[in-house]
Amino acid sequence: MYGLGIDIGSTATKVAIVDETTALVGSAIHGLGAGTSGADKALAEAFEATGLSWDDIDFSVATGYGRQRFERADKQLSELSCHARGMNQLLPGIRTIIDIGGQDAKALRLTPTGVLDNFVMNEKCAAGTGRFLDVMARVLESDISQLGKLDAQSTEVVEISSTCTVFAESEVISHLAAGLRIPDIVAGIHDSVAKRAAGLVRRLGPVEQPVAMSGGVARNTGVVRALEAELGVSISVPENCQLCGAIGAALYALDRAR
Ligand code: ADP
Repeated sequence: MYGLGIDIGSTATKVAIVDETTALVGSAIHGLGAGTSGADKALAEAFEATGLSWDDIDFSVATGYGRQRFERADKQLSELSCHARGMNQLLPGIRTIIDIGGQDAKALRLTPTGVLDNFVMNEKCAAGTGRFLDVMARVLESDISQLGKLDAQSTEVVEISSTCTVFAESEVISHLAAGLRIPDIVAGIHDSVAKRAAGLVRRLGPVEQPVAMSGGVARNTGVVRALEAELGVSISVPENCQLCGAIGAALYALDRAR
C-alpha cells in the first residue's frame, strides 16, 4: 500500500511516497513550482527512483501554494497541516516549526502531541523568504547551496539595514563595490532573514521548545545559525527538511488509503 504526497510550492515541487509502515520509500525535489511542469517532473523522478507508477498509488494528497490546480490528487490539504504532520514524523515532540519557503515564511506552534495549535505567516513580502536569498545569491554570483559555507567563513558580520529586498540588493551591491568580504556580507544577509523569522516566531508568544526548521531555506546552515543566535534557542533541522510538507501529505494519504 502506498500513499503519495505532492507539495507544489511557489519555487519548488516536492514528492514523497510512503509505504504501509509509514517509511519513506521514494522522494524527489524539483526546482520548479506552481504553474510550471515542476509537478510532472518531480513525479517522474520519484517514480523512476522507486520503480512505481501512478497506478501503484492507493491515495494521493496535494499541498502547497499550487495544490488547487493539481487535479490528479485525490485530496488537497493546507500546507500548515502537512508541515505539522511531516515534522511530527521526522522529529516527534517538536513544539515550534519555522518553515521558510521560496515566497513565504511561517511559524507554527504544535501541541505536545503534534497537533497544530497556532500559526503566523508572512506571504506579503519577499524579505525573510527564500526569494530574498535567491536574489542575493545571484548578486553575489554564488549558488544558493553555497551560502551556508560562506557564512561559516565570516569574521565580522556586515549589517544589511534595508528591510526591502530591492533596497537590500542595492545595499549588497554597494558593499561589494566597497570591497567588503563576501562571507561577512552573506552573514549579514542571513541575520536579516533571521530577524524577520524571529519576529514571526515571537508573535506566537514565548518560544515553545524544542524548535525545528522546515522548508528549503532550512538547508542553509547560515540561516539556521543566525536564527539560533537571534532566538537564543537551539534549532533542529531534519535531514528531509524540504520534504516535510510532502511527507505530511503522504502520511495523510496513507491514512485515507487504509
Ligand atoms: P516553496 O515550497 O515555497 O516552493 P521550498 O520550501 O521548496 O519553497 O524552498 C525553496 C527555497 O529553498 C529556495 O527559494 C531557496 O532559497 C532555498 N533552497 C533550495 N535549495 C537549497 C539549498 N541546497 N541550500 C540552501 N537553500 C536552498
